[in-house]
Amino acid sequence: MSARHLVEKLKALSSAHEAISAAQSLIKQHLDQTKQKENSLAQLKNSIASLDAEAREAQKKIDLLELELSAIQEQDSKLQKKLKTVKKQKEALALEKEVAQFARRKYDTERELESSCQELFNLKQQHHTTKTKILSEQDALKTELAACTKHENTLRQKLSSIEQSWVNALNDVPEEWQSKYTRMLNSVSNPIVQISSSVCGACFYTIVEKDLQRIKLGEILPCRSCYRFLYSDAHLSPLETSESQASY
Ligand SMILES: [Zn+2]
Repeated sequence: MSARHLVEKLKALSSAHEAISAAQSLIKQHLDQTKQKENSLAQLKNSIASLDAEAREAQKKIDLLELELSAIQEQDSKLQKKLKTVKKQKEALALEKEVAQFARRKYDTERELESSCQELFNLKQQHHTTKTKILSEQDALKTELAACTKHENTLRQKLSSIEQSWVNALNDVPEEWQSKYTRMLNSVSNPIVQISSSVCGACFYTIVEKDLQRIKLGEILPCRSCYRFLYSDAHLSPLETSESQASY
């Protein structure tokens, strides 16, 4: 493999590596968005549950008031019956007083029941409006989530295909270059750079004369400062026709 061919292969590896990072970051963004949407869905579900709990509480209050009212009425009718049979005036007066107290309690309980029923009615109307809104938000979110999942699957397929291309491109590079280049790729995105006059194209370190001479003879050498691989485009022999060029 000529030096130029190697440079092209290594540059293609860098591009594929960048494409992998970009796809991974897109997938991460997608996962974050999905998580947000799932949280919003859970919040909406909680909102509905608390509306239902509120309505149940209001109904419970009404049930209790109805029970109380029926107990009052029962007691009242017992007292009325007793009153009819009482002979002594003093006893009758005491009973009448008790009947009057029950009548007041009955009146108060009935008013409270009436206002509780009205409250429940209003609550149910409000809930209906709120729930309709929440349900439509839920539907919209579910549709968005389904689209997100679909898109994420497409991204994952794309990622896996780029990763495969990367492995193929790596296998195409001479073995002695595979590990040193991969190691560099983990710390910098451009492990192979052109020299610029007599300095490293990335860190601008001045290349020592003997290295510069070798680079000008078409060699690829590491920068003594940043360890990136240096080459000079003008001094690489042209690609032979049999050498194919990978593209990403
Ligand atoms: Zn350098």
